[in-house]
Amino acid sequence: MMTFKAFKYRIYPNKPQEILLNKTFGCVRVVWNYQVEVFNQFDKNKTEPEQALTTTQLKKKFEWMGEVSAAALQQKEMDFKAFKRNYFSTTRKKKLGRPSFKKRDSTQSYRLPNQKFTLNNNSIRLEKIGKVKLVLDRAVPTGCQFRSVTISKNNCGQFFASVLVEIGIIPKPKTGKSIGLDIGIKTFLTGNDGFTVENPKYFRENQTKLKSAQQHLSRKKKGSLRYNKAKLKVARIHNDIANKRQDFIQRTTTKLVNEYDFIAIEDLNVTGMVKNHKLAKSISDAAFSKFYATLSYKAAWYGKEVVKVDRWFASSKTCSGCGWKNENLTLSDRTFKCKSCGLELGRDLNASKNILREALRVSSAIRTPSEGQTEIA
Ligand SMILES: [Zn+2]
Repeated sequence: MMTFKAFKYRIYPNKPQEILLNKTFGCVRVVWNYQVEVFNQFDKNKTEPEQALTTTQLKKKFEWMGEVSAAALQQKEMDFKAFKRNYFSTTRKKKLGRPSFKKRDSTQSYRLPNQKFTLNNNSIRLEKIGKVKLVLDRAVPTGCQFRSVTISKNNCGQFFASVLVEIGIIPKPKTGKSIGLDIGIKTFLTGNDGFTVENPKYFRENQTKLKSAQQHLSRKKKGSLRYNKAKLKVARIHNDIANKRQDFIQRTTTKLVNEYDFIAIEDLNVTGMVKNHKLAKSISDAAFSKFYATLSYKAAWYGKEVVKVDRWFASSKTCSGCGWKNENLTLSDRTFKCKSCGLELGRDLNASKNILREALRVSSAIRTPSEGQTEIA
């Protein structure tokens, strides 16, 4: 199977390169914002969109644009065209909102097509910028087709190059194993076969650090040197949390698709839970939705199957041994005790067993055609 994969590297531009990179971000932002302005004018007057100046025409108007990579500007123009196609698409299920202006203080980026950059062992050559120092912490597999590179700068002032490649993915060997997973706050994953993943403590620890850094920031005078320093500190902690979370999700999902062919998981209503639950902080820490998304695409890549079980399915209340339901089960009951067959086991373990059984039932129901269909065939 062919798919796209991004390899992201930290890059270290020198001072002149940094200045030119910042200029490129700025020019790309001007191209985008110009298109947004033209577009929004049309939206107000309810007339056909005015023919916006092309990037070549824009470059004539703003001479300083000639300093940066022309390809970067063209890519941004293409992005806006793609946005317009989606906006006016009649087949799109969810209507897109109006385009918004790109701001100077958010993450900055621009993209170059594959002819405009070369990735080497410890550097990357970018059009107009030249050779920029790069740390190649994981190599792009040989034989991959390079598509594009996105250069970005986060709000901590760090620069990155994210190289997009087209890659052939080989399915992982089958293990013949299935698992049902219960998701929780303290223990992040509980499997029916004893597989467990604890929720990393550092999210909580960083949360405390973040809170104190934010309080520190709130006491500084906006715009002052101390304010900017404190702001950078907050951004760095946010950054650190995001990186650790990403790493945790990658490691956990890889382990699951390596070890199991069939993964059954409860489909929690994440947004609903985060809004209502008093443990909201821990839930968003665990980043359930990101975990789901990563697990799903990885399973698809490697020929494994993920089945989500309806969130109204009473996985915690039902006895995994005999099907008896404990309607009075509360959140504080950590052990499931069956009044019908006498089974006694951990609440999460009981739930995971039910989740696996339900997922197997649902997926076999999908695979087996109903009697009526068989007759027609
Ligand atoms: Zn029972």
